[in-house]
Amino acid sequence: SFEKNTIIVIFGASGDLAKKKTFPALFGLFREGYLDPSTKIVGYARSKLTKEELHAKIEPHLKKPHGEKDDQKVKDFFNMTNYISGQYDTDEGYLQLNDEIETFEKSRNISKPHRLFYLALPPSVFLPVAQQLKKLVYATDGITRVIVEKPFGHDLQSARKLQADLAPLFKEEEIFRIDHYLGKELVKNLIPLRFGNKFLNSSWNKNSIQNIQISFKEPFGTEGRGGYFDSIGIVRDVMQNHLLQILTLLTMDRPISFNAEDIRDEKVKVLKSLAPISNDNILIGQYDKSIDGTKPSYLDDETVKPDSKCVTFAALTFHINNDRWDGVPIIMRAGKALDSGKVEIRVQYKNIPTGMFNTMPNNELVIRVQPNPAVYLKFNAKTPGLSDTTSVTDLDLTYENRYSDFWIPEAYEVLIRDALLGDHSNFVRDDELDISWKLFTPLLNYIESSEAPAPSLYPYGSRGPEGLSEYLKKNGFDYNGTETYSWPITSPN
Ligand code: NAP
Ligand code: NAP
Repeated sequence: SFEKNTIIVIFGASGDLAKKKTFPALFGLFREGYLDPSTKIVGYARSKLTKEELHAKIEPHLKKPHGEKDDQKVKDFFNMTNYISGQYDTDEGYLQLNDEIETFEKSRNISKPHRLFYLALPPSVFLPVAQQLKKLVYATDGITRVIVEKPFGHDLQSARKLQADLAPLFKEEEIFRIDHYLGKELVKNLIPLRFGNKFLNSSWNKNSIQNIQISFKEPFGTEGRGGYFDSIGIVRDVMQNHLLQILTLLTMDRPISFNAEDIRDEKVKVLKSLAPISNDNILIGQYDKSIDGTKPSYLDDETVKPDSKCVTFAALTFHINNDRWDGVPIIMRAGKALDSGKVEIRVQYKNIPTGMFNTMPNNELVIRVQPNPAVYLKFNAKTPGLSDTTSVTDLDLTYENRYSDFWIPEAYEVLIRDALLGDHSNFVRDDELDISWKLFTPLLNYIESSEAPAPSLYPYGSRGPEGLSEYLKKNGFDYNGTETYSWPITSPN
């Protein structure tokens, strides 16, 4: 069912994203039989590299789970992969690229070209490349698709400018805006879990749910590479895009079909129902040295401004003004240099309101996106034996135990394949992007203004700024402590 003789061009092929993600994802698809051997891949960038030099850059990042068997696959893959060195803003390189593409298509007798362009480029050259591409290598009588990478703007105004510049060049159906979180296995599982299970679907609302937390934790700081991050901050880096996508999939209503536009219509609907983020109900922080002094502070990173107020931790709370969610706080928190590294969704149910059992801990459904994907439900049961007490136990789906024989593709593998098939379900639509910036821009303006309090310092390796537990409590999360529940030590986690 895969299209044959597809051309894939990667702009910025000499860069970090291309070598670590794009080429390895294409190889992964090829290795597993999801990229037809008739495909032709061309890397394009200014660097003067030979084809072999490009291959040598990519090779260390290719995964070979089947050992020696994969060595031949690597050879075959590199035989499909060429490189062209050219400028981004003049015609010459594109003409050469076009030549290469047309020669290939002619040699295969293709009547309807299928070209996929992947822009693995910094935003500064994004537009010139899009313009040149349209002018010189667009398939006028075939299919052209363009994959673009974040950042899609810096705020509402710049995002709209970018959109306005791109719109005359490519139709919305030709553009694939990557948010790689949408390719993660457990994020892709949100729709089936919610809507394919009666017990979850019928409790997924304000009547049963007290609070939702979406947490992103990184155990390391910028470690000398904060130059880029310093002008971005944690809110733009992961919240406005990745975590908001999770929030949307968690809270939207059931789409009328699996069709990409039906799914994205529902996402847009719930985004429109979000109340503005309240500036008075946020917690922002920046990491300081670790308590023992061995780990650096953010400001110790020599690539950041010496007096930077950059936010490396934030906790925000969302409210959704609709029938399903009225009154349910949704906390989003993200931070660098914390006590652990994980991305998880924690749906906390309400207590039994009165009478017997009303003091029992809340049920919680936890969807751990990474590491070690898992879904577990914490619930109360009688403690076994001659006991009349109860304790918290779990129903647990740990992927590496349950699905050890499955190949779980990387996010980029999933998304590139979707783009090759023209499926937009897991890509961000223009109106979705616009609303997300509308929502976050006032908050970002506030945080970056002199009105906002300076971010609170928190020690490297801690859970976050002082006041985090109170913040969670104030916004509806009841922490049930560690006495009530523990995870058996026999588990891999
Ligand atoms: P990069 O390595 O800095 O840039 C990719 C290539 O673009 C470079 O090899 C360079 O190639 C060219 N380039 C760099 N700076 C340029 C400039 N000022 N003017 C013209 N050309 C320039 O970037 P990247 O990390 O691969 O990221 C590419 C895009 O993906 C960015 O938009 C980034 O935000 C996004 N992204 C990256 C990651 C990641 O893991 N790296 C993750 C998510 C999103 P030549 O000099 O050879 O032309
Ligand atoms: P937990 O680690 O007890 O944390 C529960 C929640 O409470 C988290 O949101 C946590 O935030 C927060 N929290 C922690 N300390 C707090 C404090 N002092 N005040 C307020 N909030 C606080 O999680 P759990 O779900 O009960 O799981 C316990 C352990 O078992 C975890 O290590 C988990 O990975 C493991 N487990 C694993 C599996 C599996 O692998 N399949 C299944 C079940 C449980 P932070 O996230 O910031 O800590």
